[in-house]
Amino acid sequence: LKNIYKTFNKGSINEKQALSGLDLDLKRGDFATIVGSNGAGKSTLFNAIAGSFYVDRGLIELDGEDITFMREHERAKMLGYLFQDPMKGTAPHMTIEENLAIAYLRVSTGKYQIFTRVSKKDKEMFKEHLSLLNMGLEDRMNHPVGLLSGGQRQALTLLMATLVTPKLLLLDEHTAALDPATAAKVLELTKSIVKERNITCLMVTHNMNQALELGNRTLMMDCGRIVFDVFREERSHMKVSDLLEKFSLNAGKN
Ligand code: ADP
Ligand code: MG
Ligand code: MG
Repeated sequence: LKNIYKTFNKGSINEKQALSGLDLDLKRGDFATIVGSNGAGKSTLFNAIAGSFYVDRGLIELDGEDITFMREHERAKMLGYLFQDPMKGTAPHMTIEENLAIAYLRVSTGKYQIFTRVSKKDKEMFKEHLSLLNMGLEDRMNHPVGLLSGGQRQALTLLMATLVTPKLLLLDEHTAALDPATAAKVLELTKSIVKERNITCLMVTHNMNQALELGNRTLMMDCGRIVFDVFREERSHMKVSDLLEKFSLNAGKN
């Protein structure tokens, strides 16, 4: 992302510049964690990448392709996107298998294939992936997703987002609404999937220790910009407490 600007409600009393000259250069395989106070622009950054709106200014490139004005549903084929709300990523009245099938077929064939029968081979593949979650979902493929718990839904959403390796995985506090034990489980899953498949990932979290532990790179956002960007190599000789101080000092300045 180069020099990205986005103002909401331009010209009205509610005008808000949410992105203010944001620059970000992610390398393939980066697991970048993002911290920053409420309203810093973290979700807006994700929405800009996903194409929920077009940015006012700047350039967005993904894997060498200019996607600044690519439509949202086209970008969705290249991205995985998880939200804080586990209800957002799945269709509740459809079965686990149907949800997986739509996610998979749309990305792998580029078309909606709702009326196509799921092949035996794909079904087996879904089952195999589901069993990796260790939640028993592989035996409940015909259950409506609406019957699952928040943690199960979020794990399923993660699976759907990564069945076909996305060019970029966006995780917007995707464990924040879960109870601590479930959140830890979903986070472990996230870590193993991302690592095993070398998925490029941006993850928003409010837990600073988690941000520093998980990321090979940790970013801080403030006032619509990245104000701090530390790579693991740079901080290997720094203590977490020093880093925390550095982050909070930096936030104060902005
Ligand atoms: P964060 O995710 O870092 O908490 P957001 O990106 O959600 O922050 O919001 C950044 C700022 O932009 C906030 O002031 C928010 O109110 C505003 N904002 C975000 N989305 C919209 C929108 N669709 N319309 C108007 N204002 C918005
Ligand atoms: Mg917020
Ligand atoms: Mg947010």
